[in-house]
Amino acid sequence: MARLGVLALQGGYEAHAKVLRALGHEVIEVRTAGALSQISGLVLPGGESTTHLILLERFGLWLALEAFVREERPVLATCCGLILAAREVVSPAQRSFGFLDVRVSRNAWGRQVDSFEAVADGEGRLPLLFIRAPRIESVGPGVEVLETLNGEPVLVRQGRVFGATFHPELSGDLSVHVRVFGDART
Ligand code: GLN
Repeated sequence: MARLGVLALQGGYEAHAKVLRALGHEVIEVRTAGALSQISGLVLPGGESTTHLILLERFGLWLALEAFVREERPVLATCCGLILAAREVVSPAQRSFGFLDVRVSRNAWGRQVDSFEAVADGEGRLPLLFIRAPRIESVGPGVEVLETLNGEPVLVRQGRVFGATFHPELSGDLSVHVRVFGDART
């Protein structure tokens, strides 16, 4: 069992906490730099990335999060979290951490397909749920593409940082969380 954190400033953090608890992990909600020092892994959840940028400043978490990721503890960044973690954000451009060497386009799916379900390419048939999702437009050489949809990356990894354009916490399939944090059930 690990003690893990979910960034709990805004957005869909509770669903992630539920999945991690179902896998036997202890979970705390992270709103302070102090909380980051108590955990061995972190989820950056879905939500609204511009609101997150404001709240990260207000809660004084920017530098603390950078330090956390430098220590190579596992991180799962989903949707808005991926936008925050990316090296470059376009459509529109905004500030980001650069934990993952990817370029993401925030509103690339367009309004008519704001939310949709799909199944990832390949044998695993991972269910994918997209909610106003970003698209990964390009990946750097250090980034491994783990899952694709119609050939386009939807789950990537660089070191111990994983980024998903979809919402694994809402599909009922726990395998993405297991890949990042392990399964503590016996
Ligand atoms: N479109 C949102 C943003 O730009 C992200 C959507 C999500 O996290 N479900 O922040």
